[in-house]
Amino acid sequence: MRKPIIAGNWKMNKTFTEAKEFTAEVKGLVPDSEKMESVICAPALFLEELVNESDGYGLKIGAQTMHEEESGAFTGEISPVQLKDLGVEYVIIGHSERRQYFNETDESVNRKVKSAHAHGLVPIICVGESLEERENGETNAVVERQTAAGLEGLSADEVSRTVIAYEPIWAIGTGKTATTEDANTVCGVIREKIGELTDAATAGKVRIQYGGSVKPDNIGELLGMEHIDGALVGGASLEAGSFLKLLEAGSNE
Ligand code: PGA
Repeated sequence: MRKPIIAGNWKMNKTFTEAKEFTAEVKGLVPDSEKMESVICAPALFLEELVNESDGYGLKIGAQTMHEEESGAFTGEISPVQLKDLGVEYVIIGHSERRQYFNETDESVNRKVKSAHAHGLVPIICVGESLEERENGETNAVVERQTAAGLEGLSADEVSRTVIAYEPIWAIGTGKTATTEDANTVCGVIREKIGELTDAATAGKVRIQYGGSVKPDNIGELLGMEHIDGALVGGASLEAGSFLKLLEAGSNE
């Protein structure tokens, strides 16, 4: 049985003051983490505050990216050691916006994923096709390639602890979602690929999220599907009320 994981991705939104208001509003209202994992992936500036504020109840904190090296001359970057030291538990790797605007490649994603595991962080690897790739019938090939590249060189145990987020690029922030059947089919393709790379038991443990215009009113249906174990949510995670509704729907599945 895979434990659902719902992660908010705040992207480059909120001020520090707004982040503190958010944690005050959700405090004590997040479902028990034994039942479901609830995560906020916040701008690096707020991570310390969020870790401290969420201490002792179900909310977990993640970063939105990281550098693979432990330290060094990489101006502006944040290392896995720094994240771990703060008490951060998750890190999104290879979000399509990072791939599109910050030159992240399958290779750099893989280096970061390995480094995240080496430092005890749970990587959430984003994969997903563009509209053009979907229209050309390349969806499966794209997600299979990204999944294989992202997981390359990991042990079966590390693979089983990795979270994959299937986010069709055309569905991010657009209000368009893949149909639940389509989303489930592609998540199934990803799971099958993981099975080929490792074994069926390992593939059966990997949590696969769907992301792209997930809202409180469509999350229940998505989470009801066989291969969808959670959601990576941008816009609808920004308001405390909406985030709590997502978690409520998740904990009812
Ligand atoms: P969205 O973003 O929910 O606003 O579509 C999802 C994401 O990019 O992770």
